[in-house]
Amino acid sequence: MFDQMCYAGGVLDRAAERRRDAGWLALRAADARSRVVPMWQDLNVLVDGTSPLRPLIVDGDAAPALMRAADVVALLGVDSDGLAWFAADLSPWPRDHVLALAEGASATDLRRVGALLDRGDAAILAHARGLLHWHRRHRFCGKCGGATEGLDGGHRRRCRDDACGAEHFPRLDPAVIMLVTRADDAGGACLLARQPRWPRGMYSTLAGFVEPGETLEEAVAREVREEVGVAVAGIRYRGSQPWPFPSSLMLGFRAQAVSGAEVAFDTEELEDARWFGRDDIRAFADQGRKLPRADSIAHWLIADWLAEDAG
Ligand SMILES: [Zn+2]
Repeated sequence: MFDQMCYAGGVLDRAAERRRDAGWLALRAADARSRVVPMWQDLNVLVDGTSPLRPLIVDGDAAPALMRAADVVALLGVDSDGLAWFAADLSPWPRDHVLALAEGASATDLRRVGALLDRGDAAILAHARGLLHWHRRHRFCGKCGGATEGLDGGHRRRCRDDACGAEHFPRLDPAVIMLVTRADDAGGACLLARQPRWPRGMYSTLAGFVEPGETLEEAVAREVREEVGVAVAGIRYRGSQPWPFPSSLMLGFRAQAVSGAEVAFDTEELEDARWFGRDDIRAFADQGRKLPRADSIAHWLIADWLAEDAG
């Protein structure tokens, strides 16, 4: 089930061995058969009016020209035809110039449209977004403050100050996301919560970032304890999802409540947190409630638990 996660399942060969091959990279950057995925700031470029929604992929003579004009170019990989795919950051351009790349082009937040895209396209756009976001946030060296430059086809940056020479690699922020369940006579329940800033009526799983010096399991137990005052055991990994908004890797877990399962939440953080049985969740629409978006691992964790009822 989790192997169908949105933003995963990319079909490009990431071709890591090509990243250090400057000659190959230069040839591919000048090749009109190469494919270019443009981005503007943190927005992907899509073509409106298509079904399914399609990203703008630039090829032909426009591809090398776009790479020459881009602020940063990074190799995404090689497709099954042997063609190289690159992400190109056009962030310094006026927005109008980006939209003029194609009829119907729009600069769109991938989070808004991920579930509407073909899965392979969503994976490519997520890769481009995560990688180029990292470049834009690492223009300067975190060690000495000097300017950095991109290397290895956009998979490494190095401080230009020779005395420093610090190297910087794309970073991810690991976050745990967990469905807490309890056994009861009514067939069990799961704990869902809502934050005040979420869409009206939406209830979802608990989640939080992993802190230095803790395991994933410790992070799960800590977050659940902090957010709802419930102790958990039986922590079980279920699956993961790239979540480049801007740089998270979501690590999905199931956990069982072991304390009295009494919920005590901080109203600064959460507006509500409560136990729901499977039938409660299936009746969400009638109650003015809804589950998280279909492209999120939170949705999958809940659907995974609901499906167990079928057996
Ligand atoms: Zn430096």
